[in-house]
Formats: sequence, structure tokens, C-alpha cells
Amino acid sequence: MTTSVSPQVAVIGAGVVGTSIALALRRRGAEVLLVDRDEPGRGCSYGNSGAISAASIVPLAMPGVLASVPAMLLDDESPLYLPWRYLPAALPWLLRFVASARPAAVQAAAARLAELHAGALDAHEAMARELGVPELFLRRGHLHLYPDEQALAKDATGWRMREAAGFRVERLDRAGIEALEPGVSTRYRIGLYLADHATILNPLRYVQAMASAFVAGGGEVLRAEVTSLAQGPGGWQLRTAGEADARAFQHVVVAAGAWSRGLLAPLGVPLALESQRGYHVQFTGGRDVVSRTVVLADRKVFVTPMEQGLRIGGTVEIAGLRAPPDERRAAVLGRIARENFPALRDLPAQTWMGHRPCMPDSVPVIGPAPGHPGLWLATGHGHLGLTQSLATARRIADALLG
Ligand SMILES: Cc1cc2nc3c(=O)[nH]c(=O)nc-3n(C[C@H](O)[C@H](O)[C@H](O)COP(=O)(O)OP(=O)(O)OC[C@H]3O[C@@H](n4cnc5c(N)ncnc54)[C@H](O)[C@@H]3O)c2cc1C
Repeated sequence: MTTSVSPQVAVIGAGVVGTSIALALRRRGAEVLLVDRDEPGRGCSYGNSGAISAASIVPLAMPGVLASVPAMLLDDESPLYLPWRYLPAALPWLLRFVASARPAAVQAAAARLAELHAGALDAHEAMARELGVPELFLRRGHLHLYPDEQALAKDATGWRMREAAGFRVERLDRAGIEALEPGVSTRYRIGLYLADHATILNPLRYVQAMASAFVAGGGEVLRAEVTSLAQGPGGWQLRTAGEADARAFQHVVVAAGAWSRGLLAPLGVPLALESQRGYHVQFTGGRDVVSRTVVLADRKVFVTPMEQGLRIGGTVEIAGLRAPPDERRAAVLGRIARENFPALRDLPAQTWMGHRPCMPDSVPVIGPAPGHPGLWLATGHGHLGLTQSLATARRIADALLG
């Protein structure tokens, strides 16, 4: 696609983060090129669990995290898994992750996440309406399930932090769980219910709707791999595979998810970013098994009634950007789903793996790259990029356009 006017801002990455930013900038008058090697929404943003989790202000690195490292290394069914062969590459990030578990660092991260999540539910509801896809936004709450007090105790600090931040959490017994979700296995006896939380029922279609609105408003989408980024006399020079000449922009926003570190490294912009690979298993049919986002909290598994079927999402695998998906990880999710929802037993299912872009302290990097005028960072959204996308877009647009 070509245009006679040179866009002034290039946004690299058309995931939910980059596409939200491109749309926000375009709506406020900027000339914007959105570049992705793939169709919008096909990266990590494709297969997530769709949860708008405003209350998820608890970082992943919590006090005591060191104790979980042996299980991560040895148990390939653990919700957190790190294959031995990737340990040397992951070590610098892991050390920062462990350092982020200090109580003061945890409180600081939680405060920043709470600020970023404020208003997320209403913002996504309004966005879905504006995009003409209100049916994708389901505000029916999130139900987190525990089998017993012992399992709940492991997450007690996190729930206290959520309540202290002002989120309303309702405790349910087995009858309360059944009243909301009769199909849930009798194994689960305790429910914690966030009644005002919401779900995007098709994350891909949501990003596609944003991209369509961006193009309809005069934005340009280019499907190409960005091969290099350099500061030149005419601004930022962006080279893509397949284009002979570099294009110049006043501003470039790097929103390339887990791949952002590789794009920024040649510029000397260090980014402690690591991929936490997550998987989903999606059953064709079976979406009536639950009627809202249900979290099997002891297994760290999200169960979502998506438009296309029942999606079971979860697991964290730290194994880098290059290794192929490990089907054993997806198989664990499938097994957990079938054990807890017998109706799924004979249904066909597809699997998927995506790269969550994760910072050690779970706080995304949003704003100008120090020492590089015109270069902006919007990455590191980890487990919550869908939730955080619209606030990220607002922050970048405010800072970039003044
Ligand atoms: C199993 C799972 C469940 C999840 N559930 C939730 C949830 O319920 N709620 C929530 O809020 N979040 C959830 N997440 C996290 C969320 O999906 C991510 O945080 C979010 O998708 C990150 O968005 P992004 O735009 O930064 O990255 P991506 O969606 O990965 O987009 C990055 C884009 O950059 C492009 N790109 C990279 N390098 C280049 C290059 N050199 N040239 C051109 N293009 C390039 C890629 O093609 C890609 O499209 C989940 C994640 C997983 C894996």
C-alpha cells in the first residue's frame, strides 16, 4: 500500500497494543503507518483468554518465588516451566525477576499496575461499542475457583492486595459457585467472584475491528517485516524486508511484543524483556460449559466461552522465541479441562502457543526511549496486554502529541 503523504508516526507491531496505539494516534490527527509482518492481531493477541482483568495488579514475582524454581525446572506439568537447555539464556532475566519479588518492589509494581488498570473495564466496553462490535464485550464477572482453604492460602496475599486496592471480591461456597456455574467440577468448593469484570469473546476479531476503524479513519497498514531502525538526518529510518528504500518518520513506536528487544538492541536500548510462552486448547463446541470467565486458580488455568468454542488458556514456559511449541504443555491444559468438564471429553480441540512479552516486575514499558528523541516504547505487557492496551494507547498518544 502506498500514500502520497509520508506518515509521521510508524507503529511497529499490530497486536492489540500497537493497533490500539495506531488508532488513538490517528483519531487525534497524526499520520500513522502501522507495520506488521503478519495480519493485525495474529501475534500473542490472537490466542489470549480475553479477560479484562482490572484487578490483576499482583505481579508474577511475589515473595517466596525462589522456592518455586526447582518445580519449574523439574516438573514439566508445573504451571511455570523452564527447560534446562534455556536456563543460561534466561538467567539474567530470572535474577531480575527474583529481585522484583522484594516486598517493596512488589508494592511499587502493584501501585503502577493499579494506576494503569483504572477505568479499563469501561474503556473496553466503550471501545467495543464504538467499533460496532458490542457483542464481543461480556460483563458477567470472573469466577476464581479453589478446591480448599490450603490452595486459597497460597494466593491469600494477592487477594488481600486486590481488596486493599479497592476491588470488590465476593466469597462463594459450593452452592454459590453452582448458582453461577452449575457445570463446574465438584472438586471446587471455594469461589472468589469479581462481579464487575469482563471478557472479550474473540480477541482476534477485536483487534481486526480496531484495525478496520484505523484504516477507515485514514490510517495505513503495511504488511512487512521491519528489519532495522536507525536515527538519521530526516528522522527515524525504518527498513522493511521487500522495500528497497528506508522510510523516514518523525516518531516510531515499538510495540512489537516479545520481539521488541531484538529490534531495540542494535540501538543500544536495553530491555529486560523475556517471552513467557503461553498455550491454549480450544474445543470446538463446549462453549456452554461455562457462561463467563472461570479461573481454575489452583492450576492457573483460564476457561473462557469464546465465540468459536471453549478456550482453555494458561501455563508459563520460559523457552525463548525460537523453540517450536511443546505440545506436552498444551496437552496438560487439555487434560485439566477434560478432567474438570466431562462434557469436553469427546470434543475436537485445536492448540496454540503465543509469546507473552514479560518484564521481570510485570510492569510494561510505556513512554519515550531515554536518549532517543522520537522513539517510543510500548511493550512488556506480559499476561495483561489486552487489559492494558487502551490505557497504553492513551498514554502514548498523550505524550507523543502533547
Ligand atoms: C495463553 C495466554 C492467555 C492470555 N490471556 C490474557 C487475558 O486474558 N487478558 C489479558 O489482558 N492478556 C492476556 N494475555 C496476554 C496478552 O495476550 C498479551 O499481553 C498481548 O497480546 C501482547 O500484545 P502485543 O501487541 O504487545 O504483542 P503481540 O500481539 O505479540 O503483537 C506484536 C506484533 O509485532 C509483530 N512484529 C514483531 N516483530 C516485528 C517486526 N520485526 N516487523 C514487523 N512486525 C513485527 C508481530 O508479528 C506481532 O503481530 C494472554 C497471553 C497468553 C499467551
